Amino acid sequence: MNIHEYQGKDLLRQYGVAVPNGKVAFTVDEAVKAAESLNTSVYVVKAQIHAGGRGKAGGVKIAKTLDEVRTYAEELLGKTLVTHQTGPEGKVVKRLLIEEGSDIKKEYYVGLVLDRSTSRVVLMGSEEGGMEIEEVAKATPEKIFKETIDPAIGLQSYQARRLAFNMNIPKELVNKAVQFMLGLYRVFIEKDCSVAEINPLVTTGDGQVMALDAKLNFDDNALYRHPEILELRDLDEEDEKEIEASKYGLNYTALDGNIGMMVNGAGLAMATMDIIKYYGGEPANFLDVGGGASAEKVAAAFKIILSDPKVKGILVNIFGGIMKCDDIATGIIEATKQVGLNVPLVVRLEGTNVELGKKLLDESGLNITSAESMADAAQKIVELVK
Ligand code: ADP
Ligand code: MG
Repeated sequence: MNIHEYQGKDLLRQYGVAVPNGKVAFTVDEAVKAAESLNTSVYVVKAQIHAGGRGKAGGVKIAKTLDEVRTYAEELLGKTLVTHQTGPEGKVVKRLLIEEGSDIKKEYYVGLVLDRSTSRVVLMGSEEGGMEIEEVAKATPEKIFKETIDPAIGLQSYQARRLAFNMNIPKELVNKAVQFMLGLYRVFIEKDCSVAEINPLVTTGDGQVMALDAKLNFDDNALYRHPEILELRDLDEEDEKEIEASKYGLNYTALDGNIGMMVNGAGLAMATMDIIKYYGGEPANFLDVGGGASAEKVAAAFKIILSDPKVKGILVNIFGGIMKCDDIATGIIEATKQVGLNVPLVVRLEGTNVELGKKLLDESGLNITSAESMADAAQKIVELVK
């Protein structure tokens, strides 16, 4: 789960990590009020969306007066911001962070991520802050430094210190940088983050080390023990289809292609995506309806696929074990009764109650192409959406 920058900064503040003073605003008046309450002569008006790259896209504005704050707030609220992370459709700005402008001396990068190859949390740092770390990794990989953290003892001061030196943080600020990193690590561990990225971390004219941006992601599987984090969820920022899917406990992820898929089991779903691609198609989603899905759950899943305007054809690939093929058939028929079906549908059923499932589909009057194997099914749907 993602949260907004201002929410991330609130969390960091609770852990003693330095961030600029600031307040969230949902309206223009609130933005001006927030600015008034800050003790500063330079304000920063920042669009709050779950995507980075806002600076370059015009989503971060420096204001010198309250009137300018008002003008920028009017401009940004309701605007669709397109950054390199939002996709071409962009994201509508509904919240602003109004914060104190920092007197930036230099911008750095600090991030905590899970390194799957070592199964360790890694602290990364670079003196090339402000720009995308992926770019730095490509152009000047020697400027990214890493410290691998032993989970038994956590991040050690000497590691943070070594990283700060490698990042060329001025000597007199190294202690502050170390405190910063230790605090960031505590947030990461205690809140079950999957990513904590500060880009930029800055040093300021008055000798501070602080986070000007904050990107915190959380491990969904650990959210059950963090109700306070779950409260920060902003459904406006999430794919509607994914929200709907999560209500039914479906494992759904929207993708860019045009072939909708409904599959039971994550492994089979991956294999189905592979085989669609193998025959030259592009999946529109990943969807695992799970082991013992009811007809109702199947219907919900099928409706979610149909609600995606990108979908030009659907492939149902079910291997009935615990799941019964007739439940799948009933779910599909129920969903199409409610919302219609005007794209080709290829169904491959195998396993428990397969004959009954096929019979139900045959008698439904729906325009269904049946397939005998995965390869057959994939070829047929790729052909039909052409
Ligand atoms: P994004 O990563 O989405 O572009 P950032 O929060 O990193 O957004 O802001 C982009 C840039 O704007 C920063 O690199 C920094 O130069 C500037 N900036 C952001 N917040 C402040 C602030 N409070 N004071 C001064 N400059 C800021
Ligand atoms: Mg940033």
